[in-house]
Amino acid sequence: MSHPRLFIPGPTEIAPEVLHAQTRPMVGHRSKAFAALFYHILPRLKQVLLTQQHVYITASSGTGLQEAAVRNAVRPGRSVLNMVAGAFADRWNKVAVSNGKDAVRVDIEWGRPIRPEDVDAALAAGGFDAITIVHNETSTGVMSDVGAVARLVRERYPDTLILVDAVSSASGVRIPFDEWGLDMLLTSSQKAFALPPGLAFAAVSHRLLERAREVPHRGWYFDLLTLEKYLAAGKTTPATPAISLLNALDVQLDRILAEGLEARWARHEACMTMTHAWARKHDFELFPEPGYESRTVTCVANTRGIDVPDMIAFAREQGFVIGNGYGNLKNQTFRIAHMGEHSPDDMNALFDALDAFLVR
Ligand SMILES: *Cc1c(COP(=O)(O)O)cnc(C)c1O
Repeated sequence: MSHPRLFIPGPTEIAPEVLHAQTRPMVGHRSKAFAALFYHILPRLKQVLLTQQHVYITASSGTGLQEAAVRNAVRPGRSVLNMVAGAFADRWNKVAVSNGKDAVRVDIEWGRPIRPEDVDAALAAGGFDAITIVHNETSTGVMSDVGAVARLVRERYPDTLILVDAVSSASGVRIPFDEWGLDMLLTSSQKAFALPPGLAFAAVSHRLLERAREVPHRGWYFDLLTLEKYLAAGKTTPATPAISLLNALDVQLDRILAEGLEARWARHEACMTMTHAWARKHDFELFPEPGYESRTVTCVANTRGIDVPDMIAFAREQGFVIGNGYGNLKNQTFRIAHMGEHSPDDMNALFDALDAFLVR
């Protein structure tokens, strides 16, 4: 069965057996069968998210957990620092403001990473309970060095929690949550995890749960303490979970761990390297500042001035879906995602189709 192959930064291609897992018969969410599924998932999810602390699964997209992060981490009278160098960081700032948080926003030119020195300069003003940072800014194809930022924050601002959006990088890139001393890492199912949309995952530190106790009005659906209370009592989730999607996650975690995390990260990097070589061969430049290119999505600068919608339409006729630039970057850039299931062979098939357009 042939279908258009997705090389967009989410949703991504899904393995047939993962899709099929969603057709398992329904069970009650308070049944022993569901509890067995849930408690079989959690330790493997911790393994993939590289944490021995807490993980939570919500029936929402990743944006829901952006909301959870600011609602649980920031006390009244204290501020949250939003580092913004792209569309998804911009959204997180809007999420913070609309939840009534005192949000201080620092804008960095799109295409550049978030640097420790910029974070240091902003945090020096004092009063910050948390910082939000997008690890892999899908709109610009930039991956920031969150490890370096975390080192700075942990050393100089030990009370400031580090909240990380890794929606388009988690599981495709090594992000050692515990080792870096992060406090929340949130991600969505439909990007590098290669699942259908509808689930979000978070790694959460003990420190963030302690902080949440001091924050009133955390809301209910995304209250981390409520989610934790259920797990601590050996229960599953407070509200009805997305059972079919969890069946898919169950199968996908087996696939991810069977491939091996190191191999999975290496495959993503290999696909990135191929995409860079393809772009350069055709005299395109890359949009991100050199050294900060994302390993899961390449944002190509349209330095040849091609008709991007034309190329996208041509590729679509060949059975491949690639992404235009985001927002203001539309037609000035285009994006090729190499996350989730893609192999070097898949990338070559896409490049063959794009080559046919570029040499016409
Ligand atoms: C896709 C994306 C989001 C939004 O995630 P949803 O699952 O659509 O809510 C947030 N941040 C980044 C970096 C993304 O790529």
